[in-house]
Amino acid sequence: MASVVLQHVTKRYGSVEAVHDVNLNIQDQEFLVFLGPSGCGKTTTLRMVAGLEELSDGDIFIGDENVSQKPPKDRDIAMVFQNYALYPHMTVYENMAFGLKLRKTPKSEIDRRVKEAAEILGLGQLLTRKPKELSGGQRQRVALGRAIVREPKAFLMDEPLSNLDAKLRTQTRVELKNLHRRLGATIIYVTHDQTEAMTMGTRIVVMRDGVVQQVDTPDGIYNNPANQFVATFVGTPAMNLIKGTVQTQGDQSVFHVGSQFIELPARIRHALSKLGNNQLTIGLRPEDIFLHNYQETPAVLNATVQVIEPMGHENIVYLDLEGQPLIARTDNSWLARSGDTVKMAINLPRLHAFDPSTEASLL
Ligand code: ATP
Repeated sequence: MASVVLQHVTKRYGSVEAVHDVNLNIQDQEFLVFLGPSGCGKTTTLRMVAGLEELSDGDIFIGDENVSQKPPKDRDIAMVFQNYALYPHMTVYENMAFGLKLRKTPKSEIDRRVKEAAEILGLGQLLTRKPKELSGGQRQRVALGRAIVREPKAFLMDEPLSNLDAKLRTQTRVELKNLHRRLGATIIYVTHDQTEAMTMGTRIVVMRDGVVQQVDTPDGIYNNPANQFVATFVGTPAMNLIKGTVQTQGDQSVFHVGSQFIELPARIRHALSKLGNNQLTIGLRPEDIFLHNYQETPAVLNATVQVIEPMGHENIVYLDLEGQPLIARTDNSWLARSGDTVKMAINLPRLHAFDPSTEASLL
């Protein structure tokens, strides 16, 4: 396995810049996930690593080698796509062996690699079956097997789970994570699904409009988002953003929203010098709004209940705070009705703060 390095990687299609100046150091054995909405440039970036798209600018290194000018077949990487076409007339064994056969790998070596991959993927009993005799998940594993037998320097995966139904996707997610551990493989994985990114990635690259927004561990992305885009893209329901103004007097800073206010914790007060004016957006995850059973706290606001969605183990509560919509989650012992005015306590240590003009985090 090997490291993969991207230096100033840019891709232009005519006047459209699909990928802008991406710099990344993907370490050996990392499971790196590109995450972002449709059209943000993640597939184009992956295809440049694979050699399927030319770079407009920049360089890509696999191991110590600059592969920017190399054709895909000489890059020693394996790709797994969303549409994993298996050869229908071949058995599982033959499907997995096919690429090696083309490369004139000795028969005994092919046999060893196919059996090893089949063992890892739990396909040992299915080697003589044809694709039509397999389930969707088993077919996906054969596609992975085909990549594994090549023993590549890195695996590139583009939404490989998106054709599977929800249950199978969850199951295959766990399998992929285990596979990563067993193979000690470098995996670069593209998805628009935040759950896949959060559960499998050792690091996540969040992209928007061709530009990298943040590169961090799943924990860093969730708990220390660099800007409002990252903050609201990861997490369900999304982080609440509340617009208001700040007033600082002495060593106290107060955040005003409509006719109500809370005192900001020192952690945020110290960062307020980065603001150009007194406008501030605070960020609050739905689990950091407490509607009951909270400790005595100075940070309590009144909001009006709009809708309560029962989810079984919890309720999702839609609130109105001074004309701004908010979402909270609460356990299902909390009782209220639409139209009720309720107290909401804010988990101050987990409060985020953003500059409304740049949308960047102040923290
Ligand atoms: P998705 O999740 O929908 O696949 P993505 O994040 O992978 O999206 P890309 O496929 O990398 O996005 O596309 C990035 C941008 O580049 C988009 O605006 C897309 O329209 C544009 N683009 C991609 N391929 C081409 C092409 N061959 N010619 C012109 N523009 C392209």
